[in-house]
Amino acid sequence: MRKESFHRAMKTVHERHDAAEAAAEQRRLEIALKIPEITVLTNRLTQTCTQITRAVFSKEENAQKAIERLMQENLSAQEKIKQLLAQNGYPADYLFATYTCAACSDTGYIDGAQCKCLKELIVQYEIESFNAQNQISAVTFSQFDLSYYNGDARTQMERVFAFCQQYADQFSRNAVSILMQGGVGLGKTHLSLSIASALMEKGYAVLYLSAPDLFRKLQNEYYGKSETKTDTMDLIRAADLVIIDDLGAELENQFNSMAFYNIVNLRQNIMRPMIINTNLSFKEIEQRYSQRMMSRLLSFRCLKFAGTDIRQIKMRLQYGAAMGS
Ligand SMILES: [Zn+2]
Repeated sequence: MRKESFHRAMKTVHERHDAAEAAAEQRRLEIALKIPEITVLTNRLTQTCTQITRAVFSKEENAQKAIERLMQENLSAQEKIKQLLAQNGYPADYLFATYTCAACSDTGYIDGAQCKCLKELIVQYEIESFNAQNQISAVTFSQFDLSYYNGDARTQMERVFAFCQQYADQFSRNAVSILMQGGVGLGKTHLSLSIASALMEKGYAVLYLSAPDLFRKLQNEYYGKSETKTDTMDLIRAADLVIIDDLGAELENQFNSMAFYNIVNLRQNIMRPMIINTNLSFKEIEQRYSQRMMSRLLSFRCLKFAGTDIRQIKMRLQYGAAMGS
């Protein structure tokens, strides 16, 4: 998976480079037509550069003087080009390529090391291919049906629903973290996936993981059993939002308990939000993952889900329809 994302990222970087160069070439052609004097000067610049290189390697006695004269000439040509551009209403850098990443000129590398822009793209593509397996974008707020909830539960869920919509609307990388709490089939997964798909549409990198999958992956990576070289912790660090669904459904052991603490700790240290869904009560969380863990979760915004298991209601309705009632 990592190899694919790397190639895709390199492709994007090269496309950015080519686009920047093509745009600059277009501007040079435009200027050549409008201000022919500049073409004469840029040709002269190329000549002086070649002559300077030649002089540097020559063993002639007056080489140093020649270099100085050529450099002077070079500078004044550059100055003249700037003046001409300004006189005609163009910015001074009009003939140069403007790269997406100025640090590496859209090559992806600086002194043989991967540039930050390339690393960011790799992680972005890793998360995308990760999420492609989960069909997140298929789940939306508009499919959420409040009519399955009655009485007090309905009022409570209207509040929860409004909060989640607002969260997606106003999301930023330092948004508050959310703990979604409540029984099975009350819509926790649906609403967290709705937030995810709304944010992905806005271009945010959202990492969605079910707790059993997540901890299995981490264990395989930790004990070297993983076939892919993807480091899940790298993705957790890089994502704009991390969603852990169904916390408590994973195997109960010390590795998982520690791993969960490390994840929450990491996200809090870099001040990036997460959404955790669980059927567990606070007391159960504390018993299972330690008090230290519990105190970390206190900074989360807690959303209590109420109602009756929607899957059961749907089943009953289907059964009723089948019976003709
Ligand atoms: Zn770069």
